Amino acid sequence: MDRFLIRNNKKPNDGTQNSEPAPKKKKYDESSVKVRRYLSEYLGLGFSATKSDPVNAQCVLCGQVLANSSMKTVHMNRHLSTVHPSHVGKPIEFFKRKQEAFASNCLEIAKVASVSSKALRASYAVSYLVAKQKKPHTIAECLILPALVKVSEIMFDTKTATALQSIPVSNNTISRRIEDIASDIVM
Ligand SMILES: [Zn+2]
Repeated sequence: MDRFLIRNNKKPNDGTQNSEPAPKKKKYDESSVKVRRYLSEYLGLGFSATKSDPVNAQCVLCGQVLANSSMKTVHMNRHLSTVHPSHVGKPIEFFKRKQEAFASNCLEIAKVASVSSKALRASYAVSYLVAKQKKPHTIAECLILPALVKVSEIMFDTKTATALQSIPVSNNTISRRIEDIASDIVM
């Protein structure tokens, strides 16, 4: 009897997933990992959509990101009223402008970040040359960089020259980079 009952209980759970007349519109279980969709009305609460997958909501005023699972009007309302109380009730156009400003700020930051990553690469390249030529590590700071800056001032412009000055080439930095490169080569 018991065995019969167990088998009967198992049946609907195991094989018949599709034919089972499950309710199509299941109630959203908030604790589940269901992916929430960004709704355009969220911008009226100061939140735009991130480009991530799954999409998250990001405050256009301070940049705070709400995880997908927390993308609910109740959280957005609370954020707006506690962190930006002076902007409660502002029209959606206001947040649209803020969103545009925020996006262009992010673009600027990304540009700066990519320049500094180039500076880092340049720093490694210079260190490698110094090591290869067996020159004292101070040569980068005393001669190479000043020479690069002078040359680009003459041949290009002061903007380029200023950008070159962001390349880290101090004595200690060059030593560290060479150790880094050497440990890579030994492996
Ligand atoms: Zn905010």
